[in-house]
Amino acid sequence: MQDREPEGAGDKLEEEDEWQLYASAGYASSELESEEQELQEDSSEEIWFDGDDLEFEGSTVNWDSPPCPAPLGIAHVIKIGVCDHCLARISGFHSRGSGPASGSSIREDAFLRDAELESKIIQDYCPLCENLFDDVDNIVDRVFETLSNTDFSTMQFGIHLPKDLLQEEDRIRSKYGAAGSYHLKGAIVEAIHERIRDLNKEVDFVKEKPDVMVLVDGLTLRVDVDVRPIFLYGRYRKLSRGIPQTRWPCRACRGRALGCESCGETGLQYIDSVQDLIGEPIREALEAEDTSFHGMGREDIDVRCLGSGRPFVLEVKKPSKRKLPVEDLVELVKGNAPGKVEVDSLSWCTRKKVNEVKQSRSEKTYTIRFRADGLVDNEEAKKSILSLDGQVIDQETPQRVSHRRAAKTRRRKITSIDDVSFEGGEVEITLRCEAGTYVKELVHSDEGRTKPSVQSVLGTDCEVIWLDVLEIHAE
Ligand SMILES: [Zn+2]
Ligand SMILES: [Zn+2]
Repeated sequence: MQDREPEGAGDKLEEEDEWQLYASAGYASSELESEEQELQEDSSEEIWFDGDDLEFEGSTVNWDSPPCPAPLGIAHVIKIGVCDHCLARISGFHSRGSGPASGSSIREDAFLRDAELESKIIQDYCPLCENLFDDVDNIVDRVFETLSNTDFSTMQFGIHLPKDLLQEEDRIRSKYGAAGSYHLKGAIVEAIHERIRDLNKEVDFVKEKPDVMVLVDGLTLRVDVDVRPIFLYGRYRKLSRGIPQTRWPCRACRGRALGCESCGETGLQYIDSVQDLIGEPIREALEAEDTSFHGMGREDIDVRCLGSGRPFVLEVKKPSKRKLPVEDLVELVKGNAPGKVEVDSLSWCTRKKVNEVKQSRSEKTYTIRFRADGLVDNEEAKKSILSLDGQVIDQETPQRVSHRRAAKTRRRKITSIDDVSFEGGEVEITLRCEAGTYVKELVHSDEGRTKPSVQSVLGTDCEVIWLDVLEIHAE
């Protein structure tokens, strides 16, 4: 039997969630807490400072100056080279606003108070930010260059700054900065947001579920962009047998990139899959990298799925476009797989829906046709079959799935048997069962591992010819 479909579509989920956690935990946050934690973790390390580092010998820097906003404090931080951005955020003059213009006016005032101050500045290298604010335009340019072919309206932005810079910044700011001064990471992130708004880019900055995650390394200015997947919910009907639900790699070459002779260089055991019949036209339209398919269970490859279809979520990975109307996507799918797979409608959903769909258990209605040789009296046979209506059956793990399912006995209810008909030596039954019932086994008994079974009540060998899922009773 050909029902060894590979499992594990969606194994990538966890991996991606980890990226999200990683990015949210430290880098992407502009919250004070995470930074403080970072610093506290390091408190065992000796924090020291040696003025000789900066070759300030002989200068008039007063290392014991009071903190800002005292005029001496302001003068001190100007002397040690603090830039306008940093001056604005640590000077304590919140009423003047933030940003370099505010820093510049605070500096002008200080020069008016002390005519010699400007000549006493010992360096033009800001010890608080290492002149990182000068790179803001450059960083923003790189971000938009990287995203030039990508649709997005929300962004989660993170910057990674070297720990020693953060520690040194914190030390100087706590000593000479005004109480409540804004920390470097938050200020940099804000300056970048500001720059993006100045460029009139329509971007919402969010802390979760962004379209794109951007992570900048403050040391190398490397920009990493992660385009987040989008999700579509729908129900599919599979009208043709011999189509697996998910992409199925070639057995001979294990689906390696160039394939092999036996798979015609496709790398696939079956050219068609529900995943690709639905997913490929959508992937192409959204200029995405790949898809994952998450079905509410799956039917065997030789089983059709009819009625209102099986619920699924299609995950579209790294899409360049994310705003096409779903109606257009439905049309594309309809045109791609006539007679094979149908989808009536699609709707955008979130990753949460994947788990909902995967964990959902629904009753199903099936039609199954089987050969039962040696039936003498069809009326008697029908009565016997109907005796299973409403019965609870015990099913040991079927032999055909024993390689991937734990051996145990499952108790399942036959909710109803709705139709029984005969034709030649063949019987067709329509029945509704509890989620997780092995219906083929219910008929042929799997060598007595399902009790009772159609075979046991008929007292003759039953051989399944075909099976259709008629309805999945999901809400
Ligand atoms: Zn600075
Ligand atoms: Zn192959």
